[in-house]
Amino acid sequence: MIAFGPVPSRRLGLSLGINNIASRKVCSYSCIYCQIGLTKEQSITRATFYKPSVLIEEVSNHLKKLKPGYQPDYLTFVTNGEPTLDINLGEEIRLLKQFGMPIAVITNSSQMFDNQVRTELMEADWVSVKVDSTDEATWRQINQPVKELNLNDILQGIEAFAKTYKGKLHTETMMVAGVNDEPAQISQTATFIASLHPQMAYISIPIRPPAVKSVKAPAEEKLVTAWQTYSNFGIQTEMLAGFEGTETGFTGNAYDDILNISAVHPLREDTLASLLTHDNAGMNVVHSLVRQGLIKEVPFNGKNFYIRKLHRAK
Ligand code: SF4
Repeated sequence: MIAFGPVPSRRLGLSLGINNIASRKVCSYSCIYCQIGLTKEQSITRATFYKPSVLIEEVSNHLKKLKPGYQPDYLTFVTNGEPTLDINLGEEIRLLKQFGMPIAVITNSSQMFDNQVRTELMEADWVSVKVDSTDEATWRQINQPVKELNLNDILQGIEAFAKTYKGKLHTETMMVAGVNDEPAQISQTATFIASLHPQMAYISIPIRPPAVKSVKAPAEEKLVTAWQTYSNFGIQTEMLAGFEGTETGFTGNAYDDILNISAVHPLREDTLASLLTHDNAGMNVVHSLVRQGLIKEVPFNGKNFYIRKLHRAK
C-alpha cells in the first residue's frame, strides 16, 4: 500500500503516510533499533520503485475516500526503508503539490552527501533528519550503514542543507542504552544539532520490538540529562517516548496535564509548581502519579524533574 492513514502524529498533526518504497524494505542503514527488522537489502543506489504517476494516482484515490474532517495536515513520506533512495522523489514532491497540502519527508539523512537529494528535499515543506550520533564508531554501531557511506560527508551535507533550507527542519535522535546515552556523547550530538538551528529536535527511544533484541531504552535519568543538555544549547527539544498525548498547556485537570506534558518534556519542580497553581491542584496529585508508577522523580543538578515512566523495549 502506497498511501495510508491519515494517522495522528504529534509532530505533524493528521499525517497521510506515503510509502514510496512499499514493496520491500530497502535502506542504507540497518539500525539496531529498527522496528521492521534488520535490513536484508542494504543500498545507497537510488532506484525507481513506482512510476510517479502511479504514486500520485494512489494518493489521489486515497484522499477521495477520506471522510470530511479527516483531511490530512501533511502528506508524509515515511517508508519501510529510506525514502530518498527513490530516484523519483523530487518529481513526486512536485506533483503532490497539486493537492494543496504541505509535504513532509522523514529521512535517515544517509543520502544528504548528495547535492541532488538535497535539492529535491528543498521542495518539501517539512523535513526531519536523523542524527543518532556524530561519532563515527557510535554511528556504525547504532545505524550499521553500508560500508560505502562516510559520516563526515553526511554531516557536511546536513549542514549545507540546513543553511539554505527554507522549510521546517526537524532532527530526530534515537537514544539507545549503553550506545549513545553517555553525557559526553549527548553533548557532542547536541553541539552539531545546535549548529543546524532546527525548529525542533526530537529525542526518541525504542518503544517497539527492535531489530537487535539486546537494544534497550535509556534510563529516565539519561533522558533528563539529554533533554537538559539540548535545552542548554538553546535547542527546542521534545521527546517522542511513544505517547501521542498532546501538550495541552493548562486544562484545569492537573492529572492529565502532568501526564501529557511529562511525556514530552521532563517537568522541572518549579515548572510543575506553576502548573499546579494554574490547575488549582496540589502536590498530592504528583505523589499519587509517582505512587502509581506513571511518572518518576529524577534529581538532576540540584533540582527534581518529573518524567513520564517509559515503556522499555524488551
Ligand atoms: S533508517 Fe529507518 S528504516 Fe532504515 S534501518 Fe534505520 S530505522 Fe530502519
